[in-house]
Order: sequence, then structure tokens, then C-alpha cells
Amino acid sequence: MTIKRITLHGIRLPLKRPFKIAYDTYEDIESLVIGIESTSGHTGWGEAVVDQHVSGETWQSARRIIADELAPLLIGKPAEDIGAFHRAAEARVRHNPSAKAALDIALHDLLARQCRRPLHALLGGRCHERLELPCVISMLSPEEMARQADDACRQGYRSIKIKLGDTPEADIERIARVREALAPGVALRVDANQGWSAKQALQVIRHAEPYGVEWFEQPVFIESLESLARVSHATEAVIMADEPIHGLRDMLRVIRLEAADMVNIKLMKSAGLHEARTMAELGMAADIPCQVGSMVESSIATLAGAHLAIAHPNIVANDLVGPAMLASDVAEMPGDDTHIALDESAGLGIDIDRDRVRELSAFEDDID
Ligand SMILES: [Mg+2]
Repeated sequence: MTIKRITLHGIRLPLKRPFKIAYDTYEDIESLVIGIESTSGHTGWGEAVVDQHVSGETWQSARRIIADELAPLLIGKPAEDIGAFHRAAEARVRHNPSAKAALDIALHDLLARQCRRPLHALLGGRCHERLELPCVISMLSPEEMARQADDACRQGYRSIKIKLGDTPEADIERIARVREALAPGVALRVDANQGWSAKQALQVIRHAEPYGVEWFEQPVFIESLESLARVSHATEAVIMADEPIHGLRDMLRVIRLEAADMVNIKLMKSAGLHEARTMAELGMAADIPCQVGSMVESSIATLAGAHLAIAHPNIVANDLVGPAMLASDVAEMPGDDTHIALDESAGLGIDIDRDRVRELSAFEDDID
């Protein structure tokens, strides 16, 4: 059973409402959906959603890297050679983690479908029953964010993550207003998406103390792990690293510098599941609990993250909220907007709606 054909669809996923964070606003989501067909008749599905502010990749650059450089490495190879694929891919082209992730996810899905096992069985086996999802709220006015937080509590969410990274004064106001709107016992998490300096971060954290923020995600600029370490060392608040931590080497730097208490692993930064799982293992050895985060992804990449999250004891939270934000998806998500429940279906556990993929497509490439 070897790989005979790979298709790539560039699709635009419509959002229910625009998504605004510190460094960008998104009206819709540009995604690359990959299908890897093997001679066994199975198709494995993968996806890349790039963030040019994080990995430097764009929709079109990832398309070209996949179609011209990486996908041809797989033709004629068996699906289980995932380690060999990563070594060949790294030798062929450095970086480009989201392009590599798309193929890594499709290979894992293909292998699990061929074995007729759910993907989590190949990633260590189930260790969590189900995944509770947070509600992620865009950076808007304090009043609007509080209104959305109140709505989310009524819908049954048990954790709220708010996007900040504006001026410290405005952000302190947002934290206070959102906390007032939350039902008792609902967790409040903050993600500044690099929007503060180290001193601003410490100012916000100090003023936010009465509001019980569970953790503060990536308060400072991506390029300065030292600055993140400075914040971490100066406060008792829990600090989570996100944008600077792509793969294992970054994880080692966090550990050496004691730069953060938690790490947000994303498949689009780690080049897929292969390295992400090792990052979670390394985190466990260093007493750094991890979250599995996501870009705003369709059910394909979201579920790849979910299978990893449900299979690893050191993954204590997730941010797999892409499908809940989409007005149209390429498959039916198992669960609802507030949780993901994975059953024993093979692979990612979804049937891809190929007509929907074609409807949303802006371009298509075939590699064989
Ligand atoms: Mg983040």
C-alpha cells in the first residue's frame, strides 16, 4: 500500500463574524486542504492554515512548497514512513511548518484509516474522556466583550479566553468587565498575542490580580524569549508561551530560560503531530503542562489536534475552537461548540464533504 496521488485545494472558510486579535483582523480563513490517496483505496486528509505573523508562510507560499517540494517526496512511499517523510522534508526545505503539518496530518489520518483505528490509538491511546472547549472572544470594546462572555456562559461554556494586547489601561478595563459578566466558577484566560512590553505585561497582571485570571498567554513580542522570561520571573501569575515556540528546540529554550509555566503547542508551528507529541513529552519531563492550540482551522486540522490532546496526559487544555467560529465547514464535527467527543471511528473520525471542498475552492493542484 503506497501513496499514488495527492490533491491540494485552496479553500476560503467563511467566519460567523470577523475575528480580531492584537496583530490582525480576519474576515475569512484561507486554508489548504490535502487529500493523500493510497493504492489501498483509502484517502487521508490534512490541512494547513498559515499565520504569516508566526511562521512567515502565506497561503500561496505554502501551496507552492507543498505542490513543488514536499508532496512529490511521498509518491510511491508507504503511509507509515512518517519519520522518513519529516527527515526528507527537512533536508529539502527548512522551516515552513504549516506546509509540513498538512502532509503530516494527512499521513497520520491515512495510516489510521488503513489500520481501521482512531488516530488517538496511534498517538498513545485515549487518556481524557472528552475535550471541553473555551469560548474565544475577539478584542473589542469592554462592553461588547462582556456581552459575549455573558452569552457564552448561557451557552454552557466553562472557560472564556479573551484576546487582548491593546493599551494596559484598556485591557485592564476589559478584564474587569468580562469577569463581572462571568458566572461563578467559569475560568477566565487572557491572550495578549504579543501586544505588550514586559513592563506593560507586569502592569496588567498586577491590576488583574483581583479578577483571578487562570493564565496569561504570550504577553510579549515573539522574538524575545528573554523578555517572556523577565515577565515570568517577576510574577506569580501563570504565563503561557505561544508564538515563539514552534518545535522541540524552542521547547528546550523555554526550559533552559524558565521562560514560561505552560506552552501552547500548535500543529501549524510544530510541522504536525510527529514533533508535537514529543514536545508534550518533553514538557511533561520538565513540569510544563501544555495546551493544544490552533489557528482558525476547519474540522480537519482541529480534529488532528483533538486526537493528540485526548491521548496525552500532559495536555491539560485546548484551544480547538476553529469549527465553532466557522459559518461553513468541510465535515461534521463530533460534539458541539462547547466540547469535542471522539469515538472509535477510523482516522480523524470524519467524512469529508468533497462537494463542500469544491464549492469553497479558489484553486486546486494534483500531484502524482
Ligand atoms: Mg495564542
